[in-house]
Amino acid sequence: YADMAVHRAKAAGRATYYFYDGEMGRQFARNVRIETRLRHALQSESLEMHFQPKVDLISERCVGMEALLRWSDAELGVVSPAEFIPIAEQTGIILPLGEWVFEQTFRHILEWQEQGIKVPPIAINCSAAQLKRADFLPKLLALLDTYQIDPSLLEIEVTESILIEDAKGCAELLQQMSRLGMRLAIDDFGTGYSSLSYLKDLPFHYVKIDQVFIRDIVADKSHAALTRAIISLSHSLNLKVIAEGITSLEQLALLREYGCDIGQGYLFSMALGAHSMANDPMIAALNEQHSFDD
Ligand code: C2E
Ligand code: MG
Ligand code: MG
Ligand code: MG
Repeated sequence: YADMAVHRAKAAGRATYYFYDGEMGRQFARNVRIETRLRHALQSESLEMHFQPKVDLISERCVGMEALLRWSDAELGVVSPAEFIPIAEQTGIILPLGEWVFEQTFRHILEWQEQGIKVPPIAINCSAAQLKRADFLPKLLALLDTYQIDPSLLEIEVTESILIEDAKGCAELLQQMSRLGMRLAIDDFGTGYSSLSYLKDLPFHYVKIDQVFIRDIVADKSHAALTRAIISLSHSLNLKVIAEGITSLEQLALLREYGCDIGQGYLFSMALGAHSMANDPMIAALNEQHSFDD
């Protein structure tokens, strides 16, 4: 891989000086292995969807769940999506992988419904490369139809990166999805090149404040101020706010004080396997509450 690494370094431009070292080679070799194993994973049983509850901060009820990929490879062991999703995006694997995520999630929804579980809206993360495909929405609609799932049960989480690349094309797609009853969330808000005009012009329903802000919200006054500002701005544009990565009661208290609507984080629950869902107290509470009936 050394040759390729040097080639890449050269291709990166004259002004930047790179030198080849062991660490860079190891990183490159690992990425190539992840790519190879990931292609293999699509044909094996090593991928799984887990689901993390979203909690209404006032009622403390579960109001939805986020589908998150989990991968345990026979050779590499557990690999985090934070590591393999970027590689899937660079290599195009995200397209079949993204389809797998939708299909697998819909399969779980159907199973839960068959078990008599009331399923809250389920959020699925989508990469820019997926949304850019002309066949994205037709394929998604066909799949919803196959599994007889109502589009209003589906939430789509996208990051700002797509909006920067093709704001206009994206706006059209988001409008279509919104009209079909899907809910739309802008993910990791505050970390990218957040442009406030996205919030005004695009049909988002939710803003998800990135966990880096929540992590230091108690100790760091500037993170607290930013969080507060994002919440008030979002509310003035009629958007609901979801805080990611809540791990302490102190964070929760502050977020409530600021008027944040919804939370996610290890304080409430980590992402759970589809089969734990039937026994989860939060899901049980959801089923007593009858609010998703009509
Ligand atoms: P994300 O969409 O922002 O998801 C939130 C991440 O934060 C998840 O990591 C979740 O497990 C983690 N998390 C939740 N609560 C806490 C907490 O209290 N503390 C901490 N430290 N972390 C918490 P995960 O599952 O490793 O996913 C990382 C990223 O990978 C996701 O960020 C998302 O961008 C991407 N990803 C995961 N699954 C998929 C997928 O099916 N499709 C696509 N396109 N991307 C995915
Ligand atoms: Mg997300
Ligand atoms: Mg996020
Ligand atoms: Mg993220």
